[in-house]
Amino acid sequence: MKVALVGIGKIAVDQHVPAIVASPDWELAATVSRSGRVEGVDAFGDFATFLVQRPDVTVVSLCLPPQPRFPYAEAALRAGRHVMLEKPPGQTLAEVHALRDLAASVGVTLYATWHSRMAHAVAAAKAWLSDKTVTRAHITWREDVRHWHPGQDWVFEPGGMGVFDPGINALSILTEILPAPVHLTAADLEFPANRQTPIAARLTFSGGVTADFDWRQTGPQTWDIEVQTDNGNLALRMGGNVLEVDGKTTGERSVMGEYPALYARMAELVKGRQSEVDLSPMVHVSDALTLGRRITTDAFHF
Ligand code: NAP
Repeated sequence: MKVALVGIGKIAVDQHVPAIVASPDWELAATVSRSGRVEGVDAFGDFATFLVQRPDVTVVSLCLPPQPRFPYAEAALRAGRHVMLEKPPGQTLAEVHALRDLAASVGVTLYATWHSRMAHAVAAAKAWLSDKTVTRAHITWREDVRHWHPGQDWVFEPGGMGVFDPGINALSILTEILPAPVHLTAADLEFPANRQTPIAARLTFSGGVTADFDWRQTGPQTWDIEVQTDNGNLALRMGGNVLEVDGKTTGERSVMGEYPALYARMAELVKGRQSEVDLSPMVHVSDALTLGRRITTDAFHF
């Protein structure tokens, strides 16, 4: 299947292009970007022109930040293209509801991807927890924004989600592996004095679940989820890639990397004429931004 990549920025270059090039299912047939391009691939600077000139490219993968993404997704769906969305799938829940309804009415696939759900040990963690009762869980997601998002001011603009841009990855894993859903009950959000989105968040959910997200961690980075149950303890470390049960690392891992697995899933969805749009991670973020207690902290500059 032919796919076009829209927004040739950090994640397109780091992950999407290599995953597509290595896949037997996909051909990278076009790019749409104001400045980026991929050598040897038909390049467009304007999305409307691409849609008119390349009707043979039936799948569009949007790698833009969430703020400009909706009009691209809407135009692609209206033009009868199947659409794959980077996480988070939109700036607001209502935007994604509209896209899901539009995809259904046009009869094309919409896939709201969550790349962290494809990390090597997530499926094994879900299987291990499936017959247990969770008594407590804690997420520690602490990383260095200057390292992972150098100069990307959009993360601190409205709709950019701040520390929830990585934090939603943890929430995508949590909502995938927990055997019963939880809901947010309280949040403390730290906003830099000169920015619109939080740089740190501490969350409390029902069911003894808590989370600590921080974008100011230099040195070793931490992406851990620790879960206590009525029948043993589990930890997912390294962003869902390492599974520990009762303190011992298990060898259970899926074979595919995150982005190859996303494109394999998109191929299945398109062939089956299905959509997959699970907004549960984003509901927790919206709820945190609704219930959160605002704390002003030091100004942030890249
Ligand atoms: P990015 O490099 O800052 O932006 C991606 C591309 O989007 C840019 O190169 C730009 O392409 C285009 N773009 C930016 N603002 C635009 C605007 N206002 N209008 C039209 N096009 C615009 O962002 P990224 O890090 O790749 O992140 C993109 C998405 O991937 C986000 O939702 C993010 O959460 C997700 N993601 C990122 C990472 C990561 O490590 N960075 C990891 C996983 C997922 P042109 O200027 O060339 O048009």
